[in-house]
Amino acid sequence: MTQRLDFEQTRAALMAAAQAVIDSQSLLTKADQAIGDGDHGVGMARGFKALRSELGKELPGPNLASLFKAGGRAIMMTSGGASGVIFGSFFIGCAKRLNADSLDARSFALALAGGLDEVRARGNANPGDKTMIDALLPAVEAAHVAAERGESLDDVVADAARAAVEGVEATKSMIAMTGKAKSLGNRSLGFVDPGALTLSLLLKSFADETRRFGLPQDSQGS
Ligand code: ADP
Ligand code: MG
Repeated sequence: MTQRLDFEQTRAALMAAAQAVIDSQSLLTKADQAIGDGDHGVGMARGFKALRSELGKELPGPNLASLFKAGGRAIMMTSGGASGVIFGSFFIGCAKRLNADSLDARSFALALAGGLDEVRARGNANPGDKTMIDALLPAVEAAHVAAERGESLDDVVADAARAAVEGVEATKSMIAMTGKAKSLGNRSLGFVDPGALTLSLLLKSFADETRRFGLPQDSQGS
């Protein structure tokens, strides 16, 4: 059971989550080729590599906000495309709600909600428009419910990740109302939203890392 991540553990979990997105470049490219212009994988890989590079530097800890702010700015400046602004805004929105030296269940849920608020303020998309919001909103709700129930951090993050994955699946039955896929109309049906997929990959990896920190040394591995 992981109750909280300190500054270095949060940094490591963010690094791992970014690597998961980078490793999925071709999957994300295919998703965007189906309903967009095919640049999502390349753009996200570029942005999350920049995040890793910034997070590898000396940062003004121990407040966690500095991690998320530096990461968000790196994505915003390097990623390009709509998703660069959106995912950059997501991390910056998380940073705005973080004012502690460690991440616990409640602060994770609050930070995630801050990310959603910033994305919505910046991009003006609504739930159901077939964007990353359709993975993020259910994740925010699941995290809130789990944190209120008093679950430990690893369970809260896992619940959020599961809800995001379900959200990705739900985007298949949505018609794109924003971004490049909008012009496809009904032809966007049956395909997942690429940005929603990216958000779910981030959360899944963050959940795995969070769980790993709670395990005793000898049961780690695989
Ligand atoms: P572009 O659309 O400029 O080619 P990408 O292909 O990199 O950019 O990213 C597309 C993804 O960005 C979409 O799948 C969607 O999830 C996300 N996105 C685009 N516009 C918005 C918005 N206004 N709000 C939330 N997410 C958005
Ligand atoms: Mg694109």
